[in-house]
Amino acid sequence: MDFWSTLWDTFTNPSNNIYPDEPANARGASSLLCIDVFFHIVRNTNGTDAFLPPNLDDVVSNLNEFYSPHNIVINNLGSDFIDDTNFLTLFNGEQDALFDRNQRTDAINFYITNSLWGTVVGVADDIPSTSLVIREDWVLTSISAHEFGHCLNLYHTFQGSSFAPNTTCAEAIMDLIAILVEI
Ligand SMILES: [Zn+2]
Repeated sequence: MDFWSTLWDTFTNPSNNIYPDEPANARGASSLLCIDVFFHIVRNTNGTDAFLPPNLDDVVSNLNEFYSPHNIVINNLGSDFIDDTNFLTLFNGEQDALFDRNQRTDAINFYITNSLWGTVVGVADDIPSTSLVIREDWVLTSISAHEFGHCLNLYHTFQGSSFAPNTTCAEAIMDLIAILVEI
């Protein structure tokens, strides 16, 4: 079974959602999975920074804080820049064009830009998918692990419920409020 098949198999059942507060290996991969992440930082067209880039090792450390107890290790494969001012402010739907830029097939593509539409601070391309984008001032929050979870086929723990939890301090990473700050 190849890597992606193994990963999908691990999470195919929505009841397998990850709960970081549970004991290691209670839910999650049965054997160690290493997932590469590649960062794409949007800058001005002239190549200058539009915002202070976050420390990417810190971002990976935060991701591993959530995922390593579940036998999933995130590896920083590297980063590049997308020098295009048009992508610094994304309106709903424009993230698709961004995801076409510098897309790598060997990693989860983690895009960082200046702002998204409305109050949205992060969005994954799909569940599952290989791309996500996070607003730069939210990259070092648990939103990154949440969107990463969508890429790994994780749904909201309130999926199928009529009421989303009205909280931003939920115990499980996939309980994070979706309606106001992310998709
Ligand atoms: Zn979500």
